Order: sequence, then C-alpha cells, then structure tokens
Amino acid sequence: MLKGKSVIVTGSTSGIGLGIARAFAAQGANVMLNGFGDADQIDTLRYAMEQEFGVKVRYSAADMSQPEQIRDMARHAEQQFGQVDVIVNNAGIQHVAPVEEFPDAKWDAILAINLSSAFHLIKAVVPGMKARRHGRIINVASAHGLTASPFKAAYVAAKHGMIGLSKTVAIELAEFGITANTICPGYVKTPLVEKQIADQARVHNIPPEQVVRNVLLKGQARKEFVQVEELAALAIFLASDMGASMTATALAMDGGWTQH
Ligand code: NAD
Repeated sequence: MLKGKSVIVTGSTSGIGLGIARAFAAQGANVMLNGFGDADQIDTLRYAMEQEFGVKVRYSAADMSQPEQIRDMARHAEQQFGQVDVIVNNAGIQHVAPVEEFPDAKWDAILAINLSSAFHLIKAVVPGMKARRHGRIINVASAHGLTASPFKAAYVAAKHGMIGLSKTVAIELAEFGITANTICPGYVKTPLVEKQIADQARVHNIPPEQVVRNVLLKGQARKEFVQVEELAALAIFLASDMGASMTATALAMDGGWTQH
C-alpha cells in the first residue's frame, strides 16, 4: 500500500515508534529510524528490517531537543530517499512529580522533546510536501492530550499542545494534499510505562501491581494495555490514500478511557 514511500519515525528505537516503523517497512516504505540506544543494536535492527522487508532503513541519532539536529535528520532522509512522504512525531519522555516539586529542567526537556520537536520536523518537511502536493503528518500524543492526570504537568501540557499544533497545520495545509492527525493512545506497556509504574508507586506510595490496576488502567474500561500493533495499524491507515479526508483529528485508542 505504501510501497516506495518514505517515512521518518522519531523515537523509533523502542516501543510504539519501533512498532510503527516496522509496520511502515512491512508496507514497503523506506524508513528513517531515530532515537537513542546502543549503536550496534540499532545497526543490527536496521539491517534485520532491510532484510525482512526489502526496503531501505536508515538511522539518525538526532536529539529531538535540538532543532538543528532535527533539520539535519530531515535533510539526511531527503538525501537517502529522495523525498519524505510521511512523518511520525512520536519521540517522547515522561516525568512524574507534584507540580511544586517539578524540576524546571524536566519541564523544559518534556516540552522540547514531546512538543517542539514536532514543530521543527513539520517545518523542515512541509516545503517538499507542499511542492509535491502530498504529505502525511502523524503525531503521537496520548490520552493525556485529551484529559489530565495529577503529577504530569509537563507531559499533559505538551500532549495537549501537540493536538493544537496538529489541528493548526492540518487546516493550514489542507488544500495541499497534506493531512495532519494525532493519535492518542491509552497506556501501552513499553519501557516508558515500565518506568512510570516505578515512579507512580513511589509518588502514590503503593505497590507496582496496584499502580497498574488502580492508577494506570483505572479509566481504561477494557482493563488491558493498548497494543503497539493496534496503534501501528492506525498510523498505516492515516498514511494511506484512504486517509485523505481524515485530517485535523485527535483519535483516541485508549480502551474507552477518555469517554468516561
Ligand atoms: P519508549 O520510551 O519505549 O520510546 C521512546 C523513544 O523516544 C525511544 O526510541 C527513545 O530513544 C526516544 N527518545 C527519547 N528522547 C529522545 C530524544 N531527546 N531524541 C530522540 N529520541 C528520543 O516510549 P513509548 O511508550 O514507545 O512512547 C512513544 C510515544 O508514545 C511518546 O511520545 C509517548 O508519550 C507516547 N505515549 C506512550 C504511551 C504508553 O503508554 N507507552 C501512551 C500514550 C502515549
């Protein structure tokens, strides 16, 4: 379906981003991986994806808190693939703390990585998309883009901001064949959430099992974690030709959480 297209997936060395990157490769798209991790492991992953799916897989170590590195990654992808058809703004970090104790540096980092990085990458690829009159911008926010939870001031602010950014560019670019949508996952069991289970246990002073059932999945009516593959399937749909009329949306995939 996406054979010959090219996609940048930020934060794709782990978790949701990696699942989305693999799904794009499986559809025949060339993929630019990004994120932190062990260089040898990333190289092995890149090579394995190329072998399995017969596509080009490249890697950028760009730090999503650094605008110049984001612009370099976009240029690198254009050089490697000829053009960038799809971007998935997925990189994200979390920090959990009461607002009065929330470290300034964590606030700045979360806003930079979870929100501003999307602005910088969109800005870098839009001229090419406009010229070709085709593009897909997929932003990974969170159920926390739609609703709040305590102790997550920076994350909730950044994810709400991501939806605003996404809607704005969607309207601005609608007549250029470019769509922009935000996916809002509920809890997915990735390394980011594994860390949160420990953090929340400390903040709420309860055991980790109780954090999963009574805090994380409290509002998630299905009482199951969302699967990476489910989110990846939604991203593939948004990137496809069948997604052409779907723009400016914030799509919850959260087991019913935000409709409570
Ligand atoms: P993860 O920790 O498994 O993966 C995060 C990825 O981002 C990794 O590849 C990491 O290397 C990369 N990354 C972190 N900081 C970076 C930086 N400065 N520059 C470049 N890359 C960086 O997390 P995940 O759970 O897969 O989360 C992915 C996205 O989904 C995040 O935006 C997160 O907020 C969102 N999300 C996750 C959940 C969940 O329950 N896991 C729920 C809703 C939304």
